Amino acid sequence: MRFPLTLGAKCGIICKDWKGFKMGWSHGVDTNRKEGDQDIGYGVAADCDEAECAVEIDRGLGYICGGDPYGGESGCGRFFCAGHLDYYFTNDKDEIMSPQLCVECGKLYEANGGA
Ligand SMILES: [Zn+2]
Ligand SMILES: [Zn+2]
Repeated sequence: MRFPLTLGAKCGIICKDWKGFKMGWSHGVDTNRKEGDQDIGYGVAADCDEAECAVEIDRGLGYICGGDPYGGESGCGRFFCAGHLDYYFTNDKDEIMSPQLCVECGKLYEANGGA
C-alpha cells in the first residue's frame, strides 16, 4: 500500500493532509527503505528509532523525522519519540525552521543551511 500522491503537505505539524493521513492511513508498508520493508502508519505501535530509547510511539506522521511520508525533503523518515524530535534553524540571517527532525538530520539541516 502506498501513500496517496495528494499528500504533498509541507507544514509538517497539523494540517488537512495530516488529518487525512491520520484517518485514512492507519497501516501501510514502506517499501522504499534500503533496510527492507517496514510497517508504517499511526496504527502501528513501535519503539523510538533512537538507539537505546524504548519510548513507545506509533509510526504515524506525528513521529516521523521530516514531517512527511518517507521523511520529505529534510528528514530520514524514521520514527522518533517527542524527546528525540526537534525543530532546527538554518544559520543564515533568514532563519528557516525545519520540519520536525531527529538529531542526526537536524545537524545536517543546520550544516547545509536548510537543504
Ligand atoms: Zn532523521
Ligand atoms: Zn526516543
